[in-house]
Amino acid sequence: MNKAIAIVGAGLGGLTLARVLHIHGIAATVYEAEASPDARAQGGMLDIHDDSGQLALKAARLHDEFLPLIHAGGQASRVLDKDGKVLLDQPDDGTGGRPEVRRGDLRQLLLESLRADTVRWGHKLGAVSSLGDGRHVLDFAHGETVTADIVVGADGAWSKIRPLLSAAQPAYVGISFIET
Ligand SMILES: Cc1cc2nc3c(=O)[nH]c(=O)nc-3n(C[C@H](O)[C@H](O)[C@H](O)COP(=O)(O)OP(=O)(O)OC[C@H]3O[C@@H](n4cnc5c(N)ncnc54)[C@H](O)[C@@H]3O)c2cc1C
Repeated sequence: MNKAIAIVGAGLGGLTLARVLHIHGIAATVYEAEASPDARAQGGMLDIHDDSGQLALKAARLHDEFLPLIHAGGQASRVLDKDGKVLLDQPDDGTGGRPEVRRGDLRQLLLESLRADTVRWGHKLGAVSSLGDGRHVLDFAHGETVTADIVVGADGAWSKIRPLLSAAQPAYVGISFIET
């Protein structure tokens, strides 16, 4: 396939897609706002479910490499009331379907599975516009412009691509969840 594929965002979604395309012999370029892979800490633990995230890792042929990253015991859950009384206590016996890994480790695994020039760091998308024939022009904040045959928005909650498809905007629903 000789199409210019632009994936905007080098989070877990964009990188997984780039990897799956790569193993099927399809080249794509990932444009990421952050300046480098270690520009910021990537956040905490993720539980990767066997019916979603693990299926993606299998499609990416990275499931075997994912297994050593699992934090043993990390799937244990305990719920206490405000007085410290234990309401729920689920130990992790290693058989659960949602093991925990560090987000940064998973991102690194995906990055290492791609050609070094796949991700263009320091490319913050400012605007996207249609050329009317299916192609789109990506305008980056530092002034570079790229034309792509296929554009994939993997640029997170505040996606610059989403408005091409939907008027939906992220909104606070009034509930906060704190996990320690
Ligand atoms: C607190 C929290 C806990 C979570 N826990 C889990 C969990 O346990 N298990 C699980 O499966 N999921 C979990 N999730 C959901 C998971 O984080 C998301 O589903 C996943 O990160 C989505 O991946 P993504 O690549 O689409 O977007 P993101 O991971 O948000 O990545 C978006 C990327 O796009 C880049 N970007 C943003 N704007 C631009 C721009 N204008 N130009 C270029 N690049 C841009 C960002 O820098 C980033 O690298 C959690 C989410 C949160 C917030």
